[in-house]
Amino acid sequence: MVDGMWIQRQIHKDDLYEVCISCGISTGTPKTLEIAKRLYYVEGAGQMCRDCWETLYPLPEKKHHELG
Ligand SMILES: [Zn+2]
Repeated sequence: MVDGMWIQRQIHKDDLYEVCISCGISTGTPKTLEIAKRLYYVEGAGQMCRDCWETLYPLPEKKHHELG
């Protein structure tokens, strides 16, 4: 049986995903994912979560809301 293998995967789960460079939460972005396909990846800095990314790069759409 391969029960041991399953347990190992659980232990190493956190290693599979990038953490936010700003707040440190898991972004759910696999480390194996190509950078070009990633969301909220900042070149030269690293992977960010959505919240931190939007703080740095507010979406233009938000201005439309403000203007009504
Ligand atoms: Zn963050």
